[in-house]
This record gives sequence, C-alpha cells and structure tokens, in this order.
Amino acid sequence: MPPRFFVDQALAQPGELSLPPAAARHVQVLRLQPGSAITLFDGQGGEWQAEVLAMGRSEVRVHLQTQQPVQRELAHAVTLALAMPANDRMDSLVEKATELGVRAIQPLMSERSVLRLNAERADKKVSHWRGVAIAACEQSGRTQLPEIAPVQTLAAWLAALPAAEAGQRRWLLSPTAAQPLAQLVQVAATRTLVLSGPEGGLSPAEEQAARERGFVAVQLGPRILRADTAPLAVLAWLALQNPA
Ligand code: SAH
Repeated sequence: MPPRFFVDQALAQPGELSLPPAAARHVQVLRLQPGSAITLFDGQGGEWQAEVLAMGRSEVRVHLQTQQPVQRELAHAVTLALAMPANDRMDSLVEKATELGVRAIQPLMSERSVLRLNAERADKKVSHWRGVAIAACEQSGRTQLPEIAPVQTLAAWLAALPAAEAGQRRWLLSPTAAQPLAQLVQVAATRTLVLSGPEGGLSPAEEQAARERGFVAVQLGPRILRADTAPLAVLAWLALQNPA
C-alpha cells in the first residue's frame, strides 16, 4: 500500500499540486523519489491516488490522479470525554482511540486529576494530540480526522452540555455502578457520549452532576481499569459491534 499523507487543504480535482509543508516534510523524510505512488486525504472523506513529480529542497510537487470514495469511518459516532491521564498515556490513548474510529475526544480536568495544565500548555497539548490523531489516521486508513476539543474542566463542560438529542445516549464509567454495561437495556442510538474519570476516579459530586446531565452510570466488570484503558475498552466494544 502506498504511504498515506494528510493534507491540510481541500483536494477538489485532479492536477498538479505543491504539498503543504507538513505533508511535504513527511515525503522528504521517507526519501520518496519522483515516480513514487502516494495516497493523499484531506479529512473531508475519500482519498486520492497521487504520484510524486519533483522533490525540491522543501517543496514537493505531486500529480493528483483519481479520487477514491473509500469509507472507513465508524457509522456510530462515539465521543470520549475523559479526565486526561498524566504523562504519555494520553498520547497513546489518542492514537488508539483514533485507530478504533473515535469521532471526538474531549480532554477534561476533574477534581482528582493528576494532570493540571494552564491555558497555554493546554493549547500546546491539544495541537500535539491533533498531530498524533493525524498520524493515526494516516496509518489506519481513516479519511476523517477526529475532533480533539480544547481542554476544559469537567464542571464547566458539564454545565455547558446541552440536553441529549434523540439518538444520543450518555454513559458514565463508574467502577461502583450497579449496572454492568453489557447488560444495559440499550436504547437505539447512533451516537454515544462516554465520560471516564482520572487515575483517582471521579468524586461522588462529579458523578452526581453527570447523572443530572443524563448520564447512566455503568461498570465494566470487577477489575479497576486504568484511566486510559476504560474508555478504550468501551470504544473497542462499540466499534466491533458497529464495524462500518
Ligand atoms: N481509583 C479509582 C479508579 C479510577 S480508574 C477508584 O478506585 O474508583 C479511572 C477511571 O476509569 C474511573 O474513574 C472510571 O471512569 C473508569 N473505570 C475504571 N475501571 C472501571 C470499571 N471496572 N467500571 C467502570 N469504569 C471504570
């Protein structure tokens, strides 16, 4: 399979094109040569076959050939709202959630979060995670980028969360919930919003606030999963039941 690159501009018709800097850098790093076949996608759906025409010092010119209307997105829209795990666990979570087809990730800081970011660092982290998601889309064949929303506190996010629309269900992952997720009587849904806590768990007040916003508390079995494992387990479970 030819290497795939995301281009941050709309691809509309066949013809010659100078790759935007990030994609050009990737092509340079792989030392591709004129004549090499590559695949490009712009995140709006579908992908394009292309051929490298010329490699300059920083410029890479390509010939955009045909658009292929491939569809590899998860039809069921899953949003993971999660209290960010500390260190590089969040990077790995973004990577794996993207591979599994997540539609959006909402990074949160909650009462017991270990990771505390000021506004400037939070913005830097979000751009970094967008880069991680792009790389995971390139590798996994996705044609749409997941949204990585700006970091918020759980309290502010819950306060601004509109009521669930028809077709959306909300799950609060809580190790002490009585209801096992797999046995939940499931309403027909096309969208699921999953809220998952930090290393130290969500506080009882936070869980209550989430319930007031329409979240149903569910547990994932008797073992405590790490803050990065629990949301991925639910996403994988949903993704495998709704593969396309
Ligand atoms: N120390 C906390 C556990 C935190 S685990 C405690 O003992 O409560 C991090 C988060 O993952 C939790 O807040 C919860 O949202 C989710 N989680 C982990 N294991 C889970 C399980 N068995 N069932 C439901 N949610 C779980």
